[in-house]
Amino acid sequence: MRLVIAAATALTLAQLGAPAQAFVLVTNDLGQPVFWPTRCVTYHTNPDTIDEVTPEQGMSLAATAFAAWNDNPCAYVEIEDGGATCFDEAGIADFPGPQNIVMWRDGAGAWPYTERVIALTGLIYDNVTAEIVDADIEVNGDMFEFDTNGSPQAYDLLQALTHEVGHGLGIDHSLDERATMFWLSAPGETAKRVLTADDEAALCASHPVASAPPDAVCGSGTAPATIDAPYCPVDDADPNCSGGTLPFAVSLPLALGFLYRRRRPHGA
Ligand SMILES: [Zn+2]
Repeated sequence: MRLVIAAATALTLAQLGAPAQAFVLVTNDLGQPVFWPTRCVTYHTNPDTIDEVTPEQGMSLAATAFAAWNDNPCAYVEIEDGGATCFDEAGIADFPGPQNIVMWRDGAGAWPYTERVIALTGLIYDNVTAEIVDADIEVNGDMFEFDTNGSPQAYDLLQALTHEVGHGLGIDHSLDERATMFWLSAPGETAKRVLTADDEAALCASHPVASAPPDAVCGSGTAPATIDAPYCPVDDADPNCSGGTLPFAVSLPLALGFLYRRRRPHGA
């Protein structure tokens, strides 16, 4: 069954007259493409996964989806696999602050969004500067069957994750039906695990290497957290000790005044 959410349909119809270039970028209200202001974006994966895959498989699939967007010579941004995380909250949580997470929603009632969406990326960006602050991916294991081997009865998990990671990089739905970022997926489809030239062009347009910020590249951080030792910092903020307060806990109430939150659903 092929279902499309209304928002995706409207976007497609509005842009049918556009051009040979098929990719579409998420933009702020000034029309500027949103972008990561750093060369390295770290994602974590919550290992509490869905029935169809083990925690190890889920983390491996996420890492493969991250890598699909890396090593693009005309784009400066790279995704670093930060390994496992204890957290499973979308958006900017009070603690530990912005953390980009791949999360799985499984079991009856676990999917809190519209039922026609197989996966979704929540993107938070500054509507003035267009800088992305946070991007979280949620997979709807509650209402859809997934698989990893091209089974015609299920959605390919790697393809879905690769698509959602593209949203996390500020890319909207492409008009090219062959592109990973096309808005529609069909059961059994695996071809879009691999980026097309249109997908790569989208990343190069929003993160051109000529505009690379001078900060560190990926690979210079700590080793990825493991399932046994997930990234799970201790909230040791002590109300009697101002030195223990996390910086984002202070700045967040102000920041939310100009941050925009968009959710990019992946129609099934
Ligand atoms: Zn999508």
